[in-house]
Amino acid sequence: MSQHNIISMQDEQRLFTPSPSGVTGTHIQSLKEYETQYKRSMEDNEGFWAERTNELLDWFSPFTSVLDADMDTPDIRWFSGGTLNVAHNCLDRHLELGRKDKTALIWQGEPEEDVVTYTYEELYEEVCRFANVLKKYGINKGDRVALYMPMIPELTIAMLACVRIGAVHSIVFAGFSALSLQSRVMDCEAKVLVTADAVLRSGRVIPLKANADEALKSCPSVEHVVVVDRAGLAEQDKLEWHNERDLWWHQEMRQNDIAPYCECVPMESEDPLFILYTSGSTGKPKGVVHTTGGYLTYAAHSAQWVFDIQESDVYWCTADIGWITGHSYIVYGPMALGATTVMFEGVPSYPSPDRFWNIVEKFGVTIFYTAPTVIRALMREGLEWTQRHDLSSLRVLGTVGEPINPEAWMWYHENIGKGERPIVDTWWQTETGGIMIAALPFATPLKPGSATLPLPGIDARIVRADGTDAEPNEGGHLIIRKPWPGMLRGVFNDPERYKSTYFERFPKMYESGDGARVDDDGYFWIMGRLDDVINVSGHRMGTAEIESALVAHPTVAEAAVVGMPHPIKGESIYAYVTLKAEEEETEELRGQLRTWVRKEIGPIATPEILQFAEELPKTRSGKIMRRILRKIASGSTGDFGDTSTLADPSVISELVEGRTELTGS
Ligand code: ATP
Ligand code: MG
Repeated sequence: MSQHNIISMQDEQRLFTPSPSGVTGTHIQSLKEYETQYKRSMEDNEGFWAERTNELLDWFSPFTSVLDADMDTPDIRWFSGGTLNVAHNCLDRHLELGRKDKTALIWQGEPEEDVVTYTYEELYEEVCRFANVLKKYGINKGDRVALYMPMIPELTIAMLACVRIGAVHSIVFAGFSALSLQSRVMDCEAKVLVTADAVLRSGRVIPLKANADEALKSCPSVEHVVVVDRAGLAEQDKLEWHNERDLWWHQEMRQNDIAPYCECVPMESEDPLFILYTSGSTGKPKGVVHTTGGYLTYAAHSAQWVFDIQESDVYWCTADIGWITGHSYIVYGPMALGATTVMFEGVPSYPSPDRFWNIVEKFGVTIFYTAPTVIRALMREGLEWTQRHDLSSLRVLGTVGEPINPEAWMWYHENIGKGERPIVDTWWQTETGGIMIAALPFATPLKPGSATLPLPGIDARIVRADGTDAEPNEGGHLIIRKPWPGMLRGVFNDPERYKSTYFERFPKMYESGDGARVDDDGYFWIMGRLDDVINVSGHRMGTAEIESALVAHPTVAEAAVVGMPHPIKGESIYAYVTLKAEEEETEELRGQLRTWVRKEIGPIATPEILQFAEELPKTRSGKIMRRILRKIASGSTGDFGDTSTLADPSVISELVEGRTELTGS
């Protein structure tokens, strides 16, 4: 094996076979059926996608060509000649399909008693109204609208209103600062910004419009700001107001000239649908552009098969809509399928660590999709919280965002899934538009920690640095060879970055930037980002396996490892470890943990330094930012680059202090 490839030391042998789901007629019923679909999708790729989109979506006029693609330029076009509208597909057609009175959206606010539900018809009317409001203030097809909002129904309504009239939304997560908002609004030149007076978070009221006011000081493109009254700040005289610019959502929606009806604008398949900035784990966020026909096809396709969404399901994805996961799997995917989707305003830990399980029980959630970071945090709190609730409604569990450590997988499986429910670990990216590698819940045998197999239609491979195919079990670059409908079509305002980030290094392939290996059964094991690979004496190791070994120790809740410069080995391993709530940070335990890793995966992976950390630096979407940990490990005390996507910047100084104490330098 070449030294340029990543070695794998993980030896995970557990296998779980799918059990019956309790509903008859799951979408993909067996591994054999998956294999048939997969084979078909590779042999007749265009035929497969033409059939899927026609099954899943309503086209106003049929496409004349399935795919025109040049992966070099790159220039990718799906379903040319066809026209459709995303809001029509997510709302209007369901009214005709017998879902008029079906619950489209269940909204749980942070206060327990704040619950609002919308039927498909009610949601349709609200969306039409807001589309008319946008039109009234001059928004036309192609104009950008920025949404900087809490997790409230108005966010979903605003998204669907934009796409109804062909406006391009750019959602900025409400946890971002004024400065982060400003750079995104400036980049996309939004004409309207929709926001709220405040965000409710962990029992506190956090002003939001104030950030928007600050940001808009240098965003001349923005003509109007529509404000949702979430927290009553205006009545308390705590809200600044700009009469010529600011509008109240509730007043505008109920004006006499605002009808609950609004024609959908027919969109070309390749018309832009939205812009969304990536999480920024590795550096400056990229303004990823998705288009209409391909994106919606892919969101619906993946949602249907990966979650096995059925008419009777109550589906809940816990992500924030400010991330791609919320776009594709709270709104567009489930609603294209006519599902009932849950939206939650709060956090998993407030008012107590059983909030998620409380919601599952309250609404009888059947499909539950969350992130490894949430699972690890809830594991840390202990089992008493899960045991208080009846979780028997659940039939499919999912995770996304980072590799899930096998121990976290097992905890999820045993305590939430009662040892029976399938877990779909879903690998994908903002850029891919939807899930790319994941189990199909009642078809794919599961291995804890593996994202399992590529979805039908997805030609995922592992290649070496020179672009040749890796052998089974050889770690390398995870790439996609065939275009797929959900793939990004650009980085907004930056064609050069679009090409150089994704399409340059490996000719005719999409480069994901992640490292992975495929085992003898064809299962994918994501090893972490290639930017984070550690090189000890010429052995290149992904971060995921070493972290998983640490998390497998009974005292550990979470771990992050990075490389630290070493005079002889090139790099040595520096581990940051967060212990479970009741555990104590002792020298003895530090030694035990180092020995544990040595035993679990081998001497080469033994951490040189192991620092206990109360918190790890995470992006606002909950991913560990190893870039910052690397800097701290190497002794930096300042200049951490772009930290605007960090959830809690104060974590950095605590870690720097901890390192100084530990190393004496
Ligand atoms: P940036 O590209 O700006 O650094 P980001 O990559 O964190 O930000 P996202 O698009 O939100 O932004 O995240 C996609 C990345 O998350 C993937 O490339 C991968 O590294 C990681 N990821 C997502 N899901 C999984 C999963 N199931 N298993 C392993 N890794 C995952
Ligand atoms: Mg990325």
